[in-house]
Amino acid sequence: MSVSIEPLRCGHLSAPLSIFESGSGDETVTLPIPSWLVRHPRGTVLFDCGMHTDTVTDTPMRERISRRFDLDLNPGDLVTARLEDRQTDPGDIDFVVLSHLHFDHAGGLAQIPDARVIVQAAEWRAGFDDELRRANGFRRGDYDLGHEVTTVEGDHDLFGDGRVVCMSTPGHTPGHQSLRVALDSGEVVLCADCAYFGHTLEGGPLPPFGHDTTMQARSIARLTDRRRHGARLVPGHDAAVMESLPDRLD
Ligand SMILES: [Zn+2]
Repeated sequence: MSVSIEPLRCGHLSAPLSIFESGSGDETVTLPIPSWLVRHPRGTVLFDCGMHTDTVTDTPMRERISRRFDLDLNPGDLVTARLEDRQTDPGDIDFVVLSHLHFDHAGGLAQIPDARVIVQAAEWRAGFDDELRRANGFRRGDYDLGHEVTTVEGDHDLFGDGRVVCMSTPGHTPGHQSLRVALDSGEVVLCADCAYFGHTLEGGPLPPFGHDTTMQARSIARLTDRRRHGARLVPGHDAAVMESLPDRLD
């Protein structure tokens, strides 16, 4: 019963570091936008799904996002194109696990219409609460698409064998979650935006925005606790870490 992780590289966005880290300078930082293809003998999982199709061509959505970020996004960066690179059809995806509802994680959901979405209940509630939706910068059109949805509370073992486990790591958003994957070679935790960068896991600064930074710091402690037990932590938007990953982890 082996499990694998394939990193899908779904483009980049760049902006001054101070946008992503409180108290940082204005040097430009480039963030990779990852999606993760996780294959389990009983199902195929996508952890996050990259950007909306309207971000890769000249559209009002791209123009709006471009006001805050420099975009390096092409049609080949869409999650469906990256899946095609891996000979995988969108219809082969059984579950989309969303770390959270921000546009660079949930934006590609429309491209995977037949999957069941797995999301924390607190995140899903926030996505349909006008005040929380606005406060967190969620765009309802990214995720309110009629998918079958399973909302979970706390950690959730997707296949019941401990190999693919949603790990509740709230704070960045109300119901943020990370994904723990038990490979034959050891445990990997895909942190998503609980920790943008490798140094975020070493006590580095958190973003100046976010739902609850105290809660986020507690969630980071949960992640580093897994590391003490031998897990490899993969931060959400760290270019050097993304570069260092092989095409497939087993
Ligand atoms: Zn993000």
